[in-house]
Amino acid sequence: MSDEGRRLPSDEGRRLPSDEGRRLPSGNPYPLGLRLAGRWVLVVGGGAVATRRVPALLDAGARVLLVAPELTPALRAHVDAGRLDWAQRRFEDTDLDGVWLVQVAIDDPVAAEAVSAAAARRRVFCVRADDRDAATAWTPAVTRHGPVTVAVLGGGDPRRSMAVRDAIRGFLEEVGKAPLLSDPALAEALPSTRSGRVALVGAGPGDPELITVKGWRLLTEADVVVADRLVPGLLLDELRSDVELVDASKIPYGPARAQEEINRILVDRARAGSFVVRLKGGDPYVFGRGGEELLACAAAGVPVTVVPGVTSSIAVPAVAGIPVTHRGVAHEFTVVSGHLAPDDPASLVDWAALARLRGTLVVLMGLKNLAAITATLRAHGRAPGTPAAVVQEGTTGAQRLLRSTLGEVADAVRDAGLRPPAVVVLGEVVTVLGADSIT
Ligand code: SAH
Repeated sequence: MSDEGRRLPSDEGRRLPSDEGRRLPSGNPYPLGLRLAGRWVLVVGGGAVATRRVPALLDAGARVLLVAPELTPALRAHVDAGRLDWAQRRFEDTDLDGVWLVQVAIDDPVAAEAVSAAAARRRVFCVRADDRDAATAWTPAVTRHGPVTVAVLGGGDPRRSMAVRDAIRGFLEEVGKAPLLSDPALAEALPSTRSGRVALVGAGPGDPELITVKGWRLLTEADVVVADRLVPGLLLDELRSDVELVDASKIPYGPARAQEEINRILVDRARAGSFVVRLKGGDPYVFGRGGEELLACAAAGVPVTVVPGVTSSIAVPAVAGIPVTHRGVAHEFTVVSGHLAPDDPASLVDWAALARLRGTLVVLMGLKNLAAITATLRAHGRAPGTPAAVVQEGTTGAQRLLRSTLGEVADAVRDAGLRPPAVVVLGEVVTVLGADSIT
């Protein structure tokens, strides 16, 4: 028998540099979950492939050494933020010192081969974007559901792995939505999708298209939606018919009791296993009591996430042709609530200090007290000729805009019969784009 014939298959991997660069028989991949937190990973290349690969490595907590003469702007942003180390040059053998994994993300096959051969010499696994047959590791298509990660290897065909991954993702989302219909063992294995939770979602200022992509996705996944008065009706029109819709504005009792009642509904429904979306006008944390709801859920042990929204304080002026800042005009904007009169002992707003600011002042919930607010600002020195605008029901088909001055705006609003919800804007930015810009 020849020497070759007597060698055990397990010797294959122990052969030293002579097997460098050799095409290994493909076999079945052996799946592993690499725990990369705090471990060095080398990424060679600074182009589109590296840009796609780096975020998942950072997400896994890996320490990333990026070796490339040039970077895409997205990679440069990671470097600038100190999230990874960048060696601005071509690959050198010593780049492999101490690394656990290599990602080769360069097109040049000769250079890529040099990196993977060096990695093979050191027995470091190497993913190659340019040539999966030459790679010693493959990256799977991935979907994550809370603590569960599903990784799919498609036997060499990335389209196949992505298609299977998408099918599994769809299936797991269904399990999350209908926990009672699915196999209890499966539901048990996916605690984060099965058990109830709450999302505080900003619905935007009025135009139903101004919700965020994430907010919209969660809304389509909700079992229960608890909506505010200011939430665009069209968003609610599109909910599935089996979704329970709670209109928070119709809850009786005074505001304090009503808030307690909303908190109770959020916690109860989530504890019963539902995914509850608390949909709030604008951004949940801008005069929206979102913080109280988050604390109530947290105190009850209910997982809660926040999805910020487009706030009316910026978006409503914008759509009415008023930028809240403008170069050379305003370097600041201040958003205040006018729901309490300036002389109300419960007011937390320092109107005298606001009167001294030169920048833009945006007042929400300010119509009722507008006369007192403008008088106070004038009394503390803000010029009566300061441009002012009031936008009612901004970003909707019913939007009304009134332009005036600090001295006259309160009377003008009364004469025009403007009603809440309205945003009041004070400052030079009101006239900076001119009336023609408004559509
Ligand atoms: N969280 C909301 C604000 C809630 S306070 C946000 O981020 O937008 C409610 C106040 O917001 C209203 O009284 C009004 O001042 C303002 N507002 C909300 N939507 C508005 C709209 N479409 N047009 C004008 N003002 C609006």
